[in-house]
Amino acid sequence: MDSVLTLQDLGDTRPAGTALAVLGHPIKHSISPAMHNAALAEMARRDPRFADWSYRRFDVPPEDLPAALSRLHALGFRGLNLTVPHKVIAFDCVRSVDPAAQPIGAVNTLLWTPDGWHGYNTDGYGLATAVQEELGRSLAGASILLLGAGGAARGAAVECLQQHCARLWIANRSADNLRRLLDLLAPLARAIPVRGFEPGHPPADLPDDLLIINATSAGLRAEDPLPFDLSTVRHAAGVYDMIYNPPQTQLLAAAAARGIPTANGLSMLVHQGARALEIWSGVSVPVSAMRTAARRALGL
Ligand code: NDP
Repeated sequence: MDSVLTLQDLGDTRPAGTALAVLGHPIKHSISPAMHNAALAEMARRDPRFADWSYRRFDVPPEDLPAALSRLHALGFRGLNLTVPHKVIAFDCVRSVDPAAQPIGAVNTLLWTPDGWHGYNTDGYGLATAVQEELGRSLAGASILLLGAGGAARGAAVECLQQHCARLWIANRSADNLRRLLDLLAPLARAIPVRGFEPGHPPADLPDDLLIINATSAGLRAEDPLPFDLSTVRHAAGVYDMIYNPPQTQLLAAAAARGIPTANGLSMLVHQGARALEIWSGVSVPVSAMRTAARRALGL
């Protein structure tokens, strides 16, 4: 069940039972099948309706995504997850989009409906739940410094505004991408102040209770530069790094050395997945089984 499939492996017959899948390119490092199949095994022990549910992974190049989505819909897949690089492409392929995902312009979870796929974005829910669980902080009312202006940052920024954060600063390496994100957020911000800056030049009025969220990919590799120099702020309430592999980035190590509470992105991955499985199944799902399976799949 955990092998990497392509659309050619599917044939024209409907898969047995209720089928779920993640689509990405590449996909071989995805731990979503381990996480979801662990949850489904536990759900099946409690409720026989889930005994024939299964979750697969497909390697689908971006140019093949529209055809893949049509094919998986015709074959009756109940739900799909989308990962890099499909979240934005899929947004334009689905029949309808959950209103909360509309301003993000990207979807990571699709639900089968008779008329076509209905798209959701569960990343923001995953982030908000993870930050609350791991750092004891709500995005609501928080002063937030978001690092990055790519796809993950866009989802995070929209979530911060939808949750009514107090203030939002965004720091990004490239000024053009930062400007594009600030323009997109302007109509959503209403009375919430949203400011951008270059990571090397933080404004002097950053507060001590800042919640810092890293949504850059700086830290995936050991040789990456720090996305932000923590010595330029007096203190912070917490640092959440969306990266989970490696489990401790240089940014998290620097924060821990300053006594700032830290957490990595594994909890976000688990909670966005749990929310997707809730959407497909209509029941509450065993989050702890998903967390254990995710940790095991990463060798932690
Ligand atoms: P994108 O490629 O869309 O955006 C990358 C961002 O990182 C941009 O803001 C880019 O800045 C910045 N960046 C890249 N390299 C550097 C560098 N060397 N120094 C400073 N900034 C840099 O990626 P995503 O937004 O999709 O993903 C970002 C991260 O979030 C990834 O590590 C991904 O794994 C993680 N993620 C985790 C999730 C989870 O569930 N835990 C969910 C989704 C994402 P610039 O604009 O200047 O290029």
